[in-house]
Amino acid sequence: MDDETIEVETMTVACDGGSGALGHPNVYLHLDEETLDVVCPYCSKRFVLKEGADVAHTH
Ligand SMILES: [Zn+2]
Repeated sequence: MDDETIEVETMTVACDGGSGALGHPNVYLHLDEETLDVVCPYCSKRFVLKEGADVAHTH
């Protein structure tokens, strides 16, 4: 597996797997509020919150 890690600046990301064999229907993923990451169930890409990203935590 050639998993990718992608830095994002929002708690919600859209993933369509990119181009090529890993492409899949567009899905929206929500980063875990504690671990600040999420793995796409379709293509196994891992999204992590970019360090210093300005996201609103409403707890
Ligand atoms: Zn994906």
